[in-house]
Amino acid sequence: MSQLMFTFEEAAEEVIVEQKEHKGTPVDLLPLEDYDHILISESAGKDSMACLFHLQDIGVDMRKVELYHQSVDGGPDDPIFMDWPCTESYLEAVGQFFGIPVRYQWRDRGFKGELLRKDSITGDVYYYDDSGNKIWLPSQDKEKYRNTRLKWPALSSDLRTRWCSAAIKIDVFRRVLSNHPKFKGTKENPKKVLVVTGERREESFQRSRYLECELHSSNCQTRLVHAWRPVIDWKERDVWDAYEKRRFLPLVSYQLGWNRTSCFSCIFSTPDLWAMLREIAPERFQMLVEVEKEIGHTIDPKMSLTEKANLGSIDRLPKGEEFNLYIERAFHRSYRVEDLIMEKWHLPAGAFRRGGGPN
Ligand code: SF4
Repeated sequence: MSQLMFTFEEAAEEVIVEQKEHKGTPVDLLPLEDYDHILISESAGKDSMACLFHLQDIGVDMRKVELYHQSVDGGPDDPIFMDWPCTESYLEAVGQFFGIPVRYQWRDRGFKGELLRKDSITGDVYYYDDSGNKIWLPSQDKEKYRNTRLKWPALSSDLRTRWCSAAIKIDVFRRVLSNHPKFKGTKENPKKVLVVTGERREESFQRSRYLECELHSSNCQTRLVHAWRPVIDWKERDVWDAYEKRRFLPLVSYQLGWNRTSCFSCIFSTPDLWAMLREIAPERFQMLVEVEKEIGHTIDPKMSLTEKANLGSIDRLPKGEEFNLYIERAFHRSYRVEDLIMEKWHLPAGAFRRGGGPN
């Protein structure tokens, strides 16, 4: 079994210290052909897709590229709780289209398991290796790591209290990077890994201070890991231009009116987005309402989910045939690779909307 490199608690501390002090270590990237592995942290959202488009445009050897997706609701046997039901199907089609592998990793029981944690340790991490074997990275069961959450993540940029990004995504990816044997070289000949992520400075004050290139936190003596944010200075217009240039189909969340994509039920959703979610997925909405009651804690500390959705409008949702097609795509139909190039491209309803999504 692989050796643990970080506990979640240690990793979250480290991330927040990096955030507060902006202590990322700037690096100059190697020539891109010198990296052994190029990993795009791929949510299926527009900015990580823009990274993929950009790598292709600048002629990166796509045989070195892999898409790494953190499944926020856990593994294939865990019930869906926060995510869009279509995300992994879209990613499969994208991987086939570009001829690159999609790798999944997750924390056991995902977001819901972490939310309902009661005097227990965080869930173990799993990933599939290149042969499709499920690999287990157990969490350390020490008294000091046992605790209780039973609280939604805070609506804050502080990852210690807005725990979802750190616990469900950042730490999971870092654990896989730190433990996967294929990323381990030797002191004399370390593996060279480039991690590509899609943050853009335009998105928030927090992100405006990110470095474009820095040493990744999973860097060690046997593994040189650089983090690269190639679209850091892109405007949203540039992102949609990259889609339009290839007539590429965005994930259906954008067509339904969402501007940011990762979790369908993102805690940062605006009243309009909660109203839209309630309209198109009433069972999901009701489930979240019930969880708020069960734990006695609301996503927005100022009001219940129902009160927040009541403040919103569903006017942004498409109408008629388009609406039916998008609902079908979001909840029922699997994406096919032949769906990905649109006959006639047009901006999705969610383009250039404000609000929703992490900061
Ligand atoms: S998308 Fe929203 S709810 Fe999901 S992990 Fe990110 S901040 Fe948390």
